Amino acid sequence: MDTAIKKMDKELYSLIDTVDSTAQNYMFLLNTKGNLLVHKHLPQFVGEDRNISNKLVTDTVHNIIDALKDKGKTTTIYDWFNNETNVMNKKYSYIQKIPHSDWIIGSGFYLSDIENKVMKQKITMYETYNLKSQYIFYIAIFLIVLSLLFSFFVSKMVKNSFSKYNDKINDKTTQLGELNQSLEQKVVERTAELNKIKDDFEKLATTDALTHINNRYSIMKILLSEISRSNRYKTSLSIIMYDIDFFKNVNDTYGHDVGDNVLATLSNVVKNNLRQVDIIGRYGGEEFLILLPNTMLTNAKEYAERLRKKVEEYSFETVGKVTISMGIVEIEPTENINEIFKRVDNLLYISKNNGRNKISF
Ligand code: GH3
Ligand code: MG
Ligand code: MG
Repeated sequence: MDTAIKKMDKELYSLIDTVDSTAQNYMFLLNTKGNLLVHKHLPQFVGEDRNISNKLVTDTVHNIIDALKDKGKTTTIYDWFNNETNVMNKKYSYIQKIPHSDWIIGSGFYLSDIENKVMKQKITMYETYNLKSQYIFYIAIFLIVLSLLFSFFVSKMVKNSFSKYNDKINDKTTQLGELNQSLEQKVVERTAELNKIKDDFEKLATTDALTHINNRYSIMKILLSEISRSNRYKTSLSIIMYDIDFFKNVNDTYGHDVGDNVLATLSNVVKNNLRQVDIIGRYGGEEFLILLPNTMLTNAKEYAERLRKKVEEYSFETVGKVTISMGIVEIEPTENINEIFKRVDNLLYISKNNGRNKISF
């Protein structure tokens, strides 16, 4: 019977050993007498009749048995030789009595293993993290470079289109400038043309076509302004009215064209004998006015006499000698234009009546 039980036990031990060898965690079995029944790492001490010679093993076995004295199961910590680290390490074991037997089953682990595992895990995690960080770093660098390249090309494109646009604007500005310049030039030219036309018109409107001196309208306008100027500044103003003697005869004898020529030539003769400030105008057919600003009657009659002589001495083409009769007045401050004309007209009439080629004042 005893032998049979022992045989069964042995079979059970080897079964437990098999379980242990297949299990991930290590396992040991001992009995309350202090014999190791299953222990993968200490096969030399395993066996009910085996005397354990190793002090560490016997002490530990007794510690385990003591720890379980009043309890069915417990945990215990003891120093044990760690094959992995080759030093003594703290070992944490769970031990339990197998009910209805004197067997104690246990399993344990080194605290340092957990720390190592944790450390390894940490290192692995750290390495993974490092690797991932590196990846992220490279990806970030790649993305930054990509975005830089992208922004470089985009900015280049934008710059190109801007510079094209700018060139176009510059071209347009240049064109506008040129257009503006030519327009300005045209405006200047047109203004000059218009001014010339205006001057021409003004001249046409104020100049007598035959004699090229002031016409009746112009000389009357100037006379009015000279009268008011003379009154305002209390300066003297003398007026000469002259008329060609027997001019009708000239026309009748030589024809109207020769008469015209006499009118034009006479005007030139008179004009050439005027001062810069004096003004001549054709008042009627062959009647003329000379305005002498800042001139008193004494000086005016001297001038008139000189002029009469000049004309008398002048030899006209075809016609030969032509004379003129004159009336001379110095305007009075109280006189109006009608009174002045009446006076000068009478004086001219007197010259005619006195035999012509005369001056009266
Ligand atoms: P008097 O000495 O009294 O002034 O004699 P007169 O012949 O000059 O006088 P009258 O006034 O009778 O004649 C002026 C003439 O002048 C009449 C007219 O045919 C002429 N006459 C007026 N205007 C022009 C003109 O533009 N050209 C020409 N050729 N003759 C003109
Ligand atoms: Mg006449
Ligand atoms: Mg006349």
